[in-house]
Amino acid sequence: MIIDGKAIADSIEQEISSKIAGEVFHRRPGLAVVLIGELAPSHAYVKMKKKGCDRVGINSYIYQFDENISEHDLLSTIQDLNGDEKIDGILVQLPLPDHILPHKIFASIDPGKDIDGFNPVNMGKILLGMSDGFCPCTPLGIKLLFEKLSIDLTGKNVTILGRSNIVGKPLAALLMQNSPGLNATVTLAHSKTKDLQAVCHRADVLVAAIGIPQFITREYIKQGAVVIDVGINRVDDPDAKTGYRLVGDVDFHSVFEKCSLITPVPKGVGPMTIASLLLNTWTSFRRRI
Ligand code: NAD
Repeated sequence: MIIDGKAIADSIEQEISSKIAGEVFHRRPGLAVVLIGELAPSHAYVKMKKKGCDRVGINSYIYQFDENISEHDLLSTIQDLNGDEKIDGILVQLPLPDHILPHKIFASIDPGKDIDGFNPVNMGKILLGMSDGFCPCTPLGIKLLFEKLSIDLTGKNVTILGRSNIVGKPLAALLMQNSPGLNATVTLAHSKTKDLQAVCHRADVLVAAIGIPQFITREYIKQGAVVIDVGINRVDDPDAKTGYRLVGDVDFHSVFEKCSLITPVPKGVGPMTIASLLLNTWTSFRRRI
């Protein structure tokens, strides 16, 4: 069965929208998005995030800079946003230009406004199982998918492919937590993992986040496994209007008949990431007003 991430994300957005419209607040929640350079995918992601804000009633403020912006100027923009009362969430769109150190930027964001959850304080809180921080949006979106589909991970073998700071590592920390519905036995595989096929084949739930188009084929999948495809990869397609189409890290057609559930690309994890961003911004707003 195909998991309709878009429909689940829509229902979460509906809930946020009702909460924002349902009470009288002296202001709306506010999200600041910092966008640097001209990379087309970054601009596309920011546009989607802005549209999401519009749908639920969050004010979004886009701060756009040339790719030559100095680290000093970027840090001072973030300081201003940290002190700006109308801003509940600060998001710095990745990737950053090479001369800017992501860790330094994330550490400069007020942890209370760090709705992307990349500040070391919030990363630490996930590891400690503390719920008063912010969880990065893609791991949170995947956790919400399991919750909404009533998939109990207790004791299940979950293999995550990819150890990035934005997906793999925080997702592993989240799914292994001693908390109802989680409690998974997590394996985190990466580019140096030996015999990857065997490691994946043990998984009751396989999460692919490696950024290699259609890498996972049916040989990697245990019969009846749940497959979560995080990958968003552009591949050339002369028949498409844009000249490209989006595919995941999983070869959908190869895997489909062998798994029990699978997220498609697009309309799988992507919309859940946006819904989680809106949810984190709403949470920040509630904590701050
Ligand atoms: P990244 O490039 O930061 O990390 C990739 C990881 O994959 C690394 O840890 C690496 O060790 C591992 N890897 C690379 N080759 C491998 C191999 N052959 N076998 C096993 N592991 C291997 O990636 P990222 O930022 O986590 O993104 C991964 C993918 O997820 C990309 O396609 C990205 O576009 C997508 N993504 C999607 C969303 C969403 O909302 N759906 C959000 C974030 C990222």
